[in-house]
Amino acid sequence: MNELGMRDRRSNIALITFELTERCNFNCIHCCVRQDDCAKLRKSELRYDEINDIVDQAADMGCLYIRFTGGEPLFRHDFALIYEHARRKGMRVNIATNGALINSRIAKMFASFASFEDIYLSIYGLDNAAYEKTTRTAGSYRRVYDAMALLRAFNVPYKLKGIFPNRTAKELISYKRIIRTNKYLKDHISGYNLYLDPRYRRDSPEKNAKIMSYRTKVESVFDNNNILIDDYAKHCMTFIMGHAGRCGPNIFTCSAGRGQICVDSYGYLYPCLMLKSEGLSYDIRRGRLYTAISEFFPRKLNLISRNAEYIEKCSECFLKPFCEQCPGKSFVESGVYDQPLDYYCHVTNEIAQRIGLLKHSEQSWQISDWHARIRKYQMEGRVL
Ligand code: SF4
Ligand code: SF4
Repeated sequence: MNELGMRDRRSNIALITFELTERCNFNCIHCCVRQDDCAKLRKSELRYDEINDIVDQAADMGCLYIRFTGGEPLFRHDFALIYEHARRKGMRVNIATNGALINSRIAKMFASFASFEDIYLSIYGLDNAAYEKTTRTAGSYRRVYDAMALLRAFNVPYKLKGIFPNRTAKELISYKRIIRTNKYLKDHISGYNLYLDPRYRRDSPEKNAKIMSYRTKVESVFDNNNILIDDYAKHCMTFIMGHAGRCGPNIFTCSAGRGQICVDSYGYLYPCLMLKSEGLSYDIRRGRLYTAISEFFPRKLNLISRNAEYIEKCSECFLKPFCEQCPGKSFVESGVYDQPLDYYCHVTNEIAQRIGLLKHSEQSWQISDWHARIRKYQMEGRVL
């Protein structure tokens, strides 16, 4: 109910993501969120009754889908209360966790609700040494594999997202073989994150330089007789066939701030967790979710680029929907919403060359016959 005692009107919000805390029990080398745990941080975080109130507002607006992420969401002592409230409101709840704090009490609680959503565990390596090299936390590998066993014992479905910073093509290929034969992993892997993000708070150029040095080199994904190309190229091709097209100079062409919204640990709404820009923050402790969605964000996100480089490249590029360049990634890396990003530009063009959509001398933003190329590709039956 709103302050007038009336139900908020429905709005098209499909997903609300809560970054429940920026604190974490791990200390990963590539982390784009984690802040050191301290009393000040804990005190500033949204209380669970405040979180429940936002969940209630979202439910009143017809939202049915919530994501809890962090930092590590289970690092909050009241995580179970927050989760239970959302489920009782009828929400589908997606959780992104490192898994290490899942004990039998938590697994049992997950099992007590119908499983509409898998629990998403990030995994950072397939053996103890690799894992702890990434998490910088002794015992992390053992705890996460124990958590998977618990989830299986309680019949709680889980999916794994592999995040393997600084791994070579050879290691990635050997990971793939291990995954196919390991009972904890095969059937559960939902994807890999090859392209690490810089710090969302843009708070440390030194850490950002480190994180970016751990990014997968796209050449290595396609190295060694293209062993990874089978799955990866198929995925890329399918996506390009379905979504290729120019986006023009509008900066915000995704669902950020429209169909989906994010809440940070301290009660600020943003269109996306990577867009923690002062100009795009809405203090939910002083306002209403409905006002943010229906008035604040539509006003703020109606932006046309004036960046000549963006207008020349990204707005003309037929691979823009496939490229990882977006206002959020642009903001965390460059401080503005509309900067072409060298790394993603290279990745996107390299992939397009490898699958035969571009010649080596060509750049994606200079191609005017892209429509014909895709049609030809399809007619030749080259779609993998
Ligand atoms: S587990 Fe996740 S949130 Fe925690 S330090 Fe690692 S990457 Fe960051
Ligand atoms: S490939 Fe380059 S030009 Fe195209 S959208 Fe990505 S960054 Fe922009």
